Amino acid sequence: MTEQELDDLRARIRVIPREEHRISRKDISDNALKVLYRLKNAGFEAYLVGGGVRDLSLGREPKDFDVVTDARPEDVRDLFRNCRLIGRRFRLAHVHFGREIIEVATFRALHDPESVDAEGDVEMEDGRILRDNVYGSVEEDAFRRDFTINSLYYNIADFSVVDFANGLDDLDEGRVRLIGDPATRYREDPVRMLRAARFAAKLGFRIDADTGAPIPEMAGLLDHIPQARLFDEIMKLFMAGVATETYAILRRYGLFSHLFPQADEALDGDKGEVWDVFILRALENTDRRVNEGKPVTPAFLFAALLWPSVSERAEEFAQDTEVSPAQALQEAMAEVVERQLERVAIPKRFSIPMREIMLLQSRLERFRGKRARRLLGHPRFRAAYDFLLIRAAAGDAPQELADTWTRMQDADGTGEADGAAAAEAPRRRKRRRRRGKSGRASPETPE
Ligand code: ATP
Ligand code: MG
Repeated sequence: MTEQELDDLRARIRVIPREEHRISRKDISDNALKVLYRLKNAGFEAYLVGGGVRDLSLGREPKDFDVVTDARPEDVRDLFRNCRLIGRRFRLAHVHFGREIIEVATFRALHDPESVDAEGDVEMEDGRILRDNVYGSVEEDAFRRDFTINSLYYNIADFSVVDFANGLDDLDEGRVRLIGDPATRYREDPVRMLRAARFAAKLGFRIDADTGAPIPEMAGLLDHIPQARLFDEIMKLFMAGVATETYAILRRYGLFSHLFPQADEALDGDKGEVWDVFILRALENTDRRVNEGKPVTPAFLFAALLWPSVSERAEEFAQDTEVSPAQALQEAMAEVVERQLERVAIPKRFSIPMREIMLLQSRLERFRGKRARRLLGHPRFRAAYDFLLIRAAAGDAPQELADTWTRMQDADGTGEADGAAAAEAPRRRKRRRRRGKSGRASPETPE
């Protein structure tokens, strides 16, 4: 950043005294307050910053509280017994209070995005510049941040809020706006494009025109982001209870195709409308569960985002070759997942159940009778069945098939049937078994 740019930014700094803002100590976690006070009492500057201040200003409950200070990590460690330093070059202090961790960062000057969010061992190409510039003043720290609404600092010394970039106006007007020149800021860190979409969806804000304009043509820069970082970002985008809105924004700005290129192709293809409904339903399902506080697995989400391409590819395999539908599905899945992994690192603990959910679709389509009932006990049955319901709702599977599995669970007492229905189960199961034997189409090809 040039001196001129810095001067322009400095001219806009506003300090809002305690009486004129809505951040109250009673809304800040006790542990964060403890950290702030102890730093202050030791003679350091200390501020609450980032999402915590933003969310409190909006009257929302923050996810976590981050602290910045002019104290060096070693100073912080000396002040807190329950403190661990993480990262090699960009050291951050984590102060542990049971399950709550307060992250304490020393003011930084560089636009070194990778180092911002506590990843730890991040290497920069140019170590020399980094060593010269790693620490800075509070204002340098503020200008290095991405959006104006993320650059509000709550000062423990006098309980004022320092607004470095007109963030409060943007909060009032519901606007996501980058600090500085948008194209430059995206070049420094393309993930900021995804973050713009994330905050717009999460807060119900719009992306400011200048901030949004360069995104479609710069979206391709995401192709060079490490797969593991994209995975982390996708989790934040899709697991926060606003996945449907996020999806719409990502599509609108041409970002989605760089995260899930194969899904994007399928959405543009002949069956595009079915897939759009299918993905939307899956995301709605995830959002509903998140908002009800139920557990959600990324496996289901990734299965849904890959299924359109897997399903289409499997059909091609089945036509071209002699393979069984189950084999075709298996091969299609291997191919599609491999291509997706070039883009996004999906950890095995999610990719394994993700594959199972998809593979089970072919069993749900083919199994009848005894094998079907055995399938009810499969650890991934429930997820695969939910998946089938969504396919049916989107027109990708016969509704009749989904209904059959619903009845089967009622009969078995494994479904979400109420007590009365469950008590009836043995009788109904018997009847169904007989029907099963009397020869429904049931090609039980083994997998
Ligand atoms: P959330 O509530 O979703 O965690 P957040 O604003 O706290 O939102 P984080 O990803 O936790 O977001 O980042 C904390 C702060 O660090 C941000 O508010 C922002 O000031 C800064 N920051 C994070 N990532 C970047 C980035 N890529 N470029 C610039 N600043 C960033
Ligand atoms: Mg945060």
